[in-house]
Amino acid sequence: MSDQDNGRAGRTPGDPHADEHKMRFLYTLRSRGVTDQRVLDAMERIDRGAFVRGHFEDRSYEDTPLPIGCGQTISQPSVVGLMTQALEVGPRDTVLEVGTGSGYQAAVLSLLCRRVLTVDRHRRLVNEAEALFRQLGLTNITARVADGSRGLPEQAPFDRIMVTAAAEDPPGPLLSQLKIGGIMVLPVGQSDAVQTLIRVTRTAEGFRYDELRQVRFVPLVEGLGQT
Ligand code: SAH
Repeated sequence: MSDQDNGRAGRTPGDPHADEHKMRFLYTLRSRGVTDQRVLDAMERIDRGAFVRGHFEDRSYEDTPLPIGCGQTISQPSVVGLMTQALEVGPRDTVLEVGTGSGYQAAVLSLLCRRVLTVDRHRRLVNEAEALFRQLGLTNITARVADGSRGLPEQAPFDRIMVTAAAEDPPGPLLSQLKIGGIMVLPVGQSDAVQTLIRVTRTAEGFRYDELRQVRFVPLVEGLGQT
């Protein structure tokens, strides 16, 4: 893809180091295990810089989580890549994401599937993410203010569910809103400790659990936020 196709791929439109940043960003993703070319292409097209706020903007292409307001963080890019890869999203899938945050993960997913429904308990984050989705022309994402630990019963079942905040166990409503053959990827464990990223696959007989790696996420909190 040329820079003309993708004006947002670099740091800023006039940034002379844009290509170098992009190359290094993709190299880091690959070296940390993101090997699925569709995921790498999506992460090349969605400029993380657009989702990072204020004075952290110049660190957008580092493989690190960064603050985004409301005490939350945009996830580390390699973790976004590994979670997206583990979700094995297909072009006809409807995906529920719990934890919109900056909107970056939803934007990456939106290039790989038919529709993304993303929810966050903070209205401010949902409003800001929605404005970015509009600006970037990502029309297949719907963002809502909701307590994602209950899922979205009226839109269920889902082909794929991704949770980007840590619960002690996979929330029951999310398990029941997964289609048979569906996959959910989520971090589980105590919020103040290292958590385990797991993949849950729903089969006709029940659920299969695979442990993927250690991660650190902000906690999944029940109820809506104040802002
Ligand atoms: N996916 C985001 C990062 C998410 S950070 C990105 O790409 O930037 C985790 C997010 O989960 C936070 O924004 C937090 O507000 C949200 N969250 C925590 N508990 C929640 C709940 N019960 N329902 C919905 N969102 C929740």
